Amino acid sequence: MPNSEQQAPGGSDSFDVIVIGGGPAGYPAAIRAAQNQLRVACIDEWKNRDGSATFGGTCLNAGCIPSKALLESTELYHRAREEFATHGIGVAGVTLDLAQMQKRKAGVVKAMTGGILALFKSAGVIPLQGHGKLLAGRRVQFSAHDGTRRELTARHVVLASGSTPIELRSAPFQAPQVVDSWGALEFDAVPKRLGVIGAGVIGLELGSVWRRLGSEVTVLEALPDFLAIADQQLAKEALRHLKRQGLDIRLGAKVTGATVGGGAVEVVYADAKGEQRVTVDRLVVAVGRKPFTRELLAADTGVELDERGFIKVDHSCRTGAESVWAVGDCVRGPMLAHKGKEEGVMVADLIAGRYGEVNYKVIPSVIYTAPEIAWVGLTEEQVKASGRAYKTGTFPFLASGRARAMEQAAGFAKIIAARDDDEILGVHIVGPMAGELIAEAVLAMEYSASTEDLQRTIHAHPTLAEAVHEAALNADKRAIDSINR
Ligand SMILES: Cc1cc2nc3c(=O)[nH]c(=O)nc-3n(C[C@H](O)[C@H](O)[C@H](O)COP(=O)(O)OP(=O)(O)OC[C@H]3O[C@@H](n4cnc5c(N)ncnc54)[C@H](O)[C@@H]3O)c2cc1C
Repeated sequence: MPNSEQQAPGGSDSFDVIVIGGGPAGYPAAIRAAQNQLRVACIDEWKNRDGSATFGGTCLNAGCIPSKALLESTELYHRAREEFATHGIGVAGVTLDLAQMQKRKAGVVKAMTGGILALFKSAGVIPLQGHGKLLAGRRVQFSAHDGTRRELTARHVVLASGSTPIELRSAPFQAPQVVDSWGALEFDAVPKRLGVIGAGVIGLELGSVWRRLGSEVTVLEALPDFLAIADQQLAKEALRHLKRQGLDIRLGAKVTGATVGGGAVEVVYADAKGEQRVTVDRLVVAVGRKPFTRELLAADTGVELDERGFIKVDHSCRTGAESVWAVGDCVRGPMLAHKGKEEGVMVADLIAGRYGEVNYKVIPSVIYTAPEIAWVGLTEEQVKASGRAYKTGTFPFLASGRARAMEQAAGFAKIIAARDDDEILGVHIVGPMAGELIAEAVLAMEYSASTEDLQRTIHAHPTLAEAVHEAALNADKRAIDSINR
């Protein structure tokens, strides 16, 4: 965007709110603040690999959206090859055009990131593309991509600078062989052998993408338990399906070194049996992300970082500096786009003197593998540890007419509820469209619903959502469409 377009109308450099960072935490904060009749600028420095500057941050440019675009394409490819015949559809010569697949992905990303500028225009947010640095007294130094620099002032500043991938000392990034998640979304050829360090959300999604296209995928996970943060009944079921798809998931495998040579990478890791080696053509390091605050804060702003580099905030995302707020991946809590969005909206409402709150107990998590994995609330292990008496209800998708019709009957829905007052404490789903199904559970928990509330709610037939209904019924051993155990 030319710098002239970045001038605030009237040339004034003072704002009610300046948001630094235009990812899924920052851009909603800017839009909501503008909806609240405040004068708002949103600064973002993101540049894509082709040098284009865009809004949307990690999520839209290098995370949620491109990964889901590739997951969708590769799932279709896989199903055309492996499942269509079961439906009685003969397709001869299914071929892969990876360049077209990547082009479609880039088109999806472009449409979504371009959409943010349209949303800004409609809401009246002033987009500023370049670097923002908070100075003392809520002044912000803005350095545009063209090198011009000016000082802005604001009544409130929202920091939404996001996160970056963690690099392993034992396997430093070394493109094109050793890459981060963004690199793994950009491969222009299917690696014959792909190594993934980290069996978390990102590692499993990226491993699935390339496995479906034919890579031999080895996933190395340092922890002994698969998806340790998830309900372990759910994790066990997911692991079974992912292994069946050919993902070679090795648990308790701690990577100690990676050597690039001859176009391949030799990865050394230690497991219970001692030192092991695996050679791959590409290695993706997906061991997590760390808060990004480089050149964000002058020394005297009063904003503090914690020992892990997160910006310190209270429950309402206030930093220690007056009228400076921070939201999204750069603050504590799960690194999820929707968590950041809700924080951004909350802060923009609080700034405007309105009510705003984030219910941190009810944040859904979704892993977009096949089957999808989704949950909200407490795991059975957490409820057990709390000492509260509880009951569980499950429903297998094998008993769902819709799942059978879709030929996607893997997995189950599980509900955990309190024995005393029947309140739903957690919902865990592994199965088709679990990421969509979990929305009902989130709503139910947001309203402190009981399993009886769900039991008495009509669910259309035949739908996948009936699995949640039947799991709620099964919690009281009153399921109709499955055997109550
Ligand atoms: C491969 C992958 C898949 C993912 N999939 C999902 C998913 O399916 N669902 C989900 O919820 N989450 C997913 N995530 C996580 C999600 O992307 C993040 O939680 C989310 O992007 C965080 O939003 P944010 O706005 O806090 O930060 P970011 O999206 O990182 O945005 C921060 C922005 O601020 C800019 N910025 C930083 N500092 C400055 C500065 N000083 N001046 C100007 N601009 C600055 C950055 O350039 C960036 O554009 C995924 C992540 C990855 C890597």
